[in-house]
Amino acid sequence: MNEIKRRQTQQVQIGNVWVGSDHPILVQSMTNTDTVDAEGTALQVKQLTDAGSEVVRITVNSPEAASKVAEIRQRLDDMGCNTPLVGDFHFNGERLLRDYQDCAKALAKYRINPGNVGKGVKGDEKFAYMIEQAALHDKAVRIGVNWGSLDQSLAKKMMDANLALAHPAPADAVMKEALITSALTSAQKAMDLGLPKNKIILSCKVSNVQDLIEVYADLAKRCDFPLHLGLTEAGMGSKGIVASSAALAVLLQQGIGDTIRISLTPEPGAPRTQEVVVAQELLQTMGLRNFTPLVTACPGCGRTTSTVFQELARDIQHYLREQMAVWRLKYPGVESLNVAVMGCVVNGPGESKLADIGISLPGTGETPIAPVYVDGERKVTLKGDNMAQEFIAIVEEYVETNYGANGAKRSQNRVIPIQTL
Ligand code: SF4
Repeated sequence: MNEIKRRQTQQVQIGNVWVGSDHPILVQSMTNTDTVDAEGTALQVKQLTDAGSEVVRITVNSPEAASKVAEIRQRLDDMGCNTPLVGDFHFNGERLLRDYQDCAKALAKYRINPGNVGKGVKGDEKFAYMIEQAALHDKAVRIGVNWGSLDQSLAKKMMDANLALAHPAPADAVMKEALITSALTSAQKAMDLGLPKNKIILSCKVSNVQDLIEVYADLAKRCDFPLHLGLTEAGMGSKGIVASSAALAVLLQQGIGDTIRISLTPEPGAPRTQEVVVAQELLQTMGLRNFTPLVTACPGCGRTTSTVFQELARDIQHYLREQMAVWRLKYPGVESLNVAVMGCVVNGPGESKLADIGISLPGTGETPIAPVYVDGERKVTLKGDNMAQEFIAIVEEYVETNYGANGAKRSQNRVIPIQTL
């Protein structure tokens, strides 16, 4: 497999994790609870963490919310959850940081949107205060520019300058340049105010896939700050997943991106953790990191007219993901386990032999037996109604043997090291 070379960046510490090219690409997420509800917010941060989120952002939009941040931190610590919290500030961040110093201290990073800080001298003062607070409390800052809240005075100035040219550039090109300029000039201002360079992360989010790729590719060339990737307002369901994955995959393939978030709108009643699962699967299927054993399954066809095959593939994937909370600590390296569940004899044995463990189920009209392959060798043949349980028992035995205390596949480092430029 080709190795993806990461773009070389500064290394930024956020609480107990590091962001930058010397470190794995991190998965981020954001709560959608009311931050005033400290218990509910802490529980959702814990759920997101258990799903695999390594940094979690929370809304800090009011005095009531700011007053609860330290309590949320404490509740998480009490649950043994040390995931760094990022405060999302807009419009009144400087006032909240000033009035709630315990909030300023409890957060590991402040997200500042230069378009939502304020205008003119007043805006500059507010921005300066937030940066000074970050420097004072030794916190990282993400300067997060967003298409929907771009600094309008900067955009107008750049548009006017463009129109005065003999050959003006297209308006959308100027707007993209304004996004990048807003991020880079804000970062420079932050450094001029005393924030060390290795405390700054940038993002420039837009909602169109091609625009996002273009903006980040350009931004990546013009600085060495770590970049947080995300397609903003990606949407719901498969549309949000496809759009985010399409945009982020192109950038990740170019070595761009140090943290990612999949900004999914959850279906009513759907768990918030879905965005974390998608982010992990994106990184894992691209070979950038391993999080959970993945199931290779064929799509099924006219040879698989019963649902046995689909149910087994689904149950095995759920089972493996559910085990990871325990397995992650007990069986280091197990996240790279590869399991195949195949629907018939056409590709079943071949694909099963390539996996660590594979099962080839009987297709329509085939003898109702299911050969199981372990490390490429046919180990046993299952039949009857308990194939799923028997197959899971084989997986468990394999995990214990290979990733347990003396297992040959056990690793000391659960993250695949990634080569840097
Ligand atoms: S492996 Fe068999 S069941 Fe699966 S898609 Fe191929 S032919 Fe169809």
